Amino acid sequence: MSLFQNTLKQIEKASRAMRLSDDAKEIISAPERMLEVSIPVRMDNGKIKVFQGFRVQHSTLRGPAKGGVRFHYETDMEEVKALATWMSIKCSVVNIPLGGGKGGITCNPKELSPAELERLTRGFVEAISPIIGPDKDVPAPDVNTNPQIMAWFADEFSKLKGVNQLGVVTGKPIEVGGSLGRGQATAQGGVYVLNKYCETEEIDQKKLKVIIQGFGNAGNNAAQILKAQGFEIVGVSDSKGGIYSESGLNVDEIMKIKNETGSVQNTPNVEKCTNEELIEKNCDILILAALENQVHKDNANNIKAKIILELANGPITPEADEILCEKGVEVIPDILANAGGVTVSYFEMVQNAMNYYWTEEEVQAKLKTIMEQSLEDVLREKNRCKCDMRTGAFISAIARIEKALSLRGRI
Ligand code: GLU
Repeated sequence: MSLFQNTLKQIEKASRAMRLSDDAKEIISAPERMLEVSIPVRMDNGKIKVFQGFRVQHSTLRGPAKGGVRFHYETDMEEVKALATWMSIKCSVVNIPLGGGKGGITCNPKELSPAELERLTRGFVEAISPIIGPDKDVPAPDVNTNPQIMAWFADEFSKLKGVNQLGVVTGKPIEVGGSLGRGQATAQGGVYVLNKYCETEEIDQKKLKVIIQGFGNAGNNAAQILKAQGFEIVGVSDSKGGIYSESGLNVDEIMKIKNETGSVQNTPNVEKCTNEELIEKNCDILILAALENQVHKDNANNIKAKIILELANGPITPEADEILCEKGVEVIPDILANAGGVTVSYFEMVQNAMNYYWTEEEVQAKLKTIMEQSLEDVLREKNRCKCDMRTGAFISAIARIEKALSLRGRI
């Protein structure tokens, strides 16, 4: 089953619970625009290699399309369609005035030199330039893309248009129109939600044991923030595999080892395991911060955590969701848990438009307010419709989209 079919299943489930009109469901289930491009890149060996790229705008109903660009060897149109749809839902969950989009290039960035990566990025921008822009569709970082890539992105688009257009993309370095707080925003937003959830459910956070799958931007920052709050990090992993220690890991040491050697697995005196084994180990909170489909029908029953925080997009399949719900595992879903990233991206767009920049404190205060309010909205729908938190989040989001469809005279 493709990732997009998973998305449609989630929409279907929420539609039934909220009695959504067929007309609205029909529109929400189909992305507005899908573009596939070929990107010829001159490689360092002098030869041309053509890469496939994608940009999907799922919805521009509530504002410009918004969402990241990933560089991954498994990326294809079906995946990008799913991710774009989740972006529309996500922006509506946190009630920011944006639609949803996503992009990707099928490539393995670890095999590209920095110069090849730059040429690939600039080629992609040129190929999708007719459909993007600060008021149309604003890309951002996602899997394997970073502030440097966003800086090349903004530069290329500005050159093409003959005018500075830094607002065409978010997640930029601070020196070229980025927002303070954007780097940690995905993890920080997730932690604000987790803290508030624990407070609401009267769960004592002290010494809770946490496993984090994925040590990219989201996982790495989550480890640091949670460690500072007194949580015990007992397991982490990256694409090469995981490490685990019942008595707690030294996060600073692991970060150093990851930076110096390329993998957390080179940490001495800890148990080594695969990514699959790691997520089944003992802990209170499991943070999924890697890729999609990590928890599926064959391993959902083995999960020991009582709470799962989804910092990745789509890490749990719909079948696994049912199993976890029956087991009483609370899943704080991606479209809420990782929405801090796009929320600070929205702040970046606002600051770019004003050309006036906020302090880190202002960004954090605004982010915290939005994340806590969104959790409250989601829990209200969850309790009203007696459903899981993901369905509650979909309902909260789709209700806003349905209202916009109706007010704009589309249904
Ligand atoms: N790629 C991130 C996400 O999946 C951020 C998107 C954005 O900032 O536009 O939410």
